[in-house]
Amino acid sequence: MITIDGAEGEGGGQVVRNALALSLATGQPFKITSIRGKREKPGLMRQHLTAVEAACAIGNATCEGASVGSSEFTFHPGPVQAGEYHFAVGTAGSTSLVLQTVLMPLLLAGGPSRLVLEGGTHNMMAPPFEFIARCFLPIINRMGPRVDARLVRHGFYPRGGGRIEIAIDPAPLQQIECVERGPLKSTSAIALFAGLPFDIADRELGVARQLLDWPDSAFAVRELPAEWGPGNVLLLEAAFEQATEIVTGFGRLGISAESLAKTAAQRMAGFVATEAFAGPYLADQLLLPFALAGGGCFTTVKPSQHARTAAGVIAMFTKQRWAFSAQADGAHLVSVS
Ligand code: AMP
Repeated sequence: MITIDGAEGEGGGQVVRNALALSLATGQPFKITSIRGKREKPGLMRQHLTAVEAACAIGNATCEGASVGSSEFTFHPGPVQAGEYHFAVGTAGSTSLVLQTVLMPLLLAGGPSRLVLEGGTHNMMAPPFEFIARCFLPIINRMGPRVDARLVRHGFYPRGGGRIEIAIDPAPLQQIECVERGPLKSTSAIALFAGLPFDIADRELGVARQLLDWPDSAFAVRELPAEWGPGNVLLLEAAFEQATEIVTGFGRLGISAESLAKTAAQRMAGFVATEAFAGPYLADQLLLPFALAGGGCFTTVKPSQHARTAAGVIAMFTKQRWAFSAQADGAHLVSVS
């Protein structure tokens, strides 16, 4: 049985999610200890438990030891079954992180699936819905399958109540090369808010305008029904010919609108100034599908600890060795060596 030290490397929830997905995809059982060992509150939280439960449901799997707060469990996968599934995180936990767990196994299943996921759709430390729909899924679709995502209702921390729907039409994952991102085609900066003063969104856009050399038409405020809030995110999107990057500023108590907009805009400007195909978050999320395709390569910015940790977990299940090699232009080429 594969044994994973959940405190290794990044030591967060992604180790758990990747292990579940890889176990279902390869049919190998695993045991994980010291779950989320590097996080302030270690152990399984509600949203991670939903991911474990979702993995059990789609994969006819059995799991011993998983409950809120547990620091270890064992997981025995069964055959993955396509179908209609509904998973509710139950808190404002991230729906996209549950999707991260079950999508790859369902892509390898024998037929189409439909998922309804309820919880948070715009959570800190997780991909917001737009990132999944416009940065991540287009690359999955380029690899062969057809996956469509629909945002039915936004969900913000702490209220939750969001809903996304995913239609999955599987096909064997093809190896692809994502080296050139092509020229910049369009940009947008959207300040979303619900149940908060308009002024917050307006101030965020004011700062983003100063720091990004984008046309006036790129900037817009979007007000959501107050009862979905309180919630606020600034979504900065740069669509290149071959890839899209979204940098998100998550509004929260204690952080000024100006400061979150400044950080997000500086990150976006930094990414646009590189030649890399994938931003830091997309890079760690692409490793799993590329691994299951058996290879391929992409360029990214400096690899994050998340990406290096994901490569380590993948190696335990597939024996693949991922290489991160610095290029002359400062980008890094990620490939199976
Ligand atoms: P963990 O911190 O281990 O729970 O993993 C968090 C996951 O969410 C990683 O796959 C990150 O790439 C992803 N993530 C976190 N923040 C963002 C963001 N702002 N945009 C896109 N993906 C994100």
